Amino acid sequence: MKFNATEEQKLISSTVREFAEKEVRPIASDIEEEMRFPVELLPRMASLGLMGMQVPEEYGGAGLDSVSYAMSIEELARVSASVAIIVSVHNSLVLYPLLKFGREDQKRKYVPDMVAGKRLGAYCITEATAGSDVSNESSLGVRDGDNYVLNGEKLFITNGDKADVFFVMIRTSPGKGSRGLSAFMIERGTKGFNISAPLKKMGLNASGTVSIHLENCVVPAESMLGNEGDGMKIALSTLDGGRIGVGAQSLGIAQGAFEAALEYSKQREQFGRKISEFQGIQWMLADMAMKVEASRLLLYKAAYLRDEGKDYSLAASMAKLFASETANEVADKAVQIHGGVGYIRGTPVERFYRDARITRLYEGTSEIQRLVISRKLLK
Ligand SMILES: Cc1cc2nc3c(=O)[nH]c(=O)nc-3n(C[C@H](O)[C@H](O)[C@H](O)COP(=O)(O)OP(=O)(O)OC[C@H]3O[C@@H](n4cnc5c(N)ncnc54)[C@H](O)[C@@H]3O)c2cc1C
Repeated sequence: MKFNATEEQKLISSTVREFAEKEVRPIASDIEEEMRFPVELLPRMASLGLMGMQVPEEYGGAGLDSVSYAMSIEELARVSASVAIIVSVHNSLVLYPLLKFGREDQKRKYVPDMVAGKRLGAYCITEATAGSDVSNESSLGVRDGDNYVLNGEKLFITNGDKADVFFVMIRTSPGKGSRGLSAFMIERGTKGFNISAPLKKMGLNASGTVSIHLENCVVPAESMLGNEGDGMKIALSTLDGGRIGVGAQSLGIAQGAFEAALEYSKQREQFGRKISEFQGIQWMLADMAMKVEASRLLLYKAAYLRDEGKDYSLAASMAKLFASETANEVADKAVQIHGGVGYIRGTPVERFYRDARITRLYEGTSEIQRLVISRKLLK
């Protein structure tokens, strides 16, 4: 068993850290306060390979392994959870299904532009009736000659405010449950594909979350990804990888919050001493560091199994669950160590505290991860 990153993985991680420190940190707080999607970062991230991390080189991608991918998302989230999820959704939830299930003409049409940062991806599954129960979609796609006519509403769509290419799951066979769902690639500007203004959220306010209203939206049948009825299979396979992305986002939040708390504890003085000299603070820091490291090991294991072509679904759920709960706990302790200043808007730990909350909800809530894990254990 080896615990060392390869030289290439170390180089990728340090390159992304340098980028995040130089280009993301200076705007990380402002983009949240202004609810501004940082479009200017997309071409810069593309030039570093971040917009097509696991895309084969023949489509212009960086062709990286999953461990490098996880390390990169962690480094982005250590500075900005919004930037991390923008990149993670684009890579894990849109490029991955396109490459795995798309026809060659679909890949050629979208992938090179997406890798170049010219077109951004969004993933649209959630509906009012279909949250944790992904199969309970109410949106409807009716075949009409060479087209489908789509109606329905998609909720909470990350990147939606600026995305150009949308992965959209629609019910095409009523009454067939999870076998009646199909996936479509839909372009921004398609008539009847109506995108709301960005939603105001507890955190992650730079990630352009929208609702999408499909109103007699006509799309060519050839925009379907895979075959009719493949939607659920594609979505579930995609979400396994997505959990590595959100696990890495959680890890980055936890790491960033921990570092901020450690530094602050070495500077702040009370009762004539640095607060880091108090055992109450030391024990919090020790627990934080331990859980961050445990999250990292679970996450890298899931990513490693994926790279080895092994079943990584259980490992990805465990990693996502543990890392997301750790992000919340560590961010909470980081606020505690900062005292009152940690509650003031604009401090990094206050932002980490709010951003961490979503990681226990999206791409499968903590309860759904426990369901996935226990089902696998009991089967
Ligand atoms: C900021 C943000 C960004 C998002 N981005 C996207 C996106 O890009 N694309 C997309 O498609 N969706 C996105 N989502 C949606 C997200 O994935 C869902 O909100 C999430 O899956 C939970 O679904 P729900 O909100 O309907 O909660 P519900 O499913 O209604 O769950 C409510 C509660 O019930 C619990 N529960 C449900 N079923 C069970 C069960 N069987 N056993 C035990 N407990 C259960 C849940 O764990 C939760 O605590 C986003 C959401 C947010 C808030």
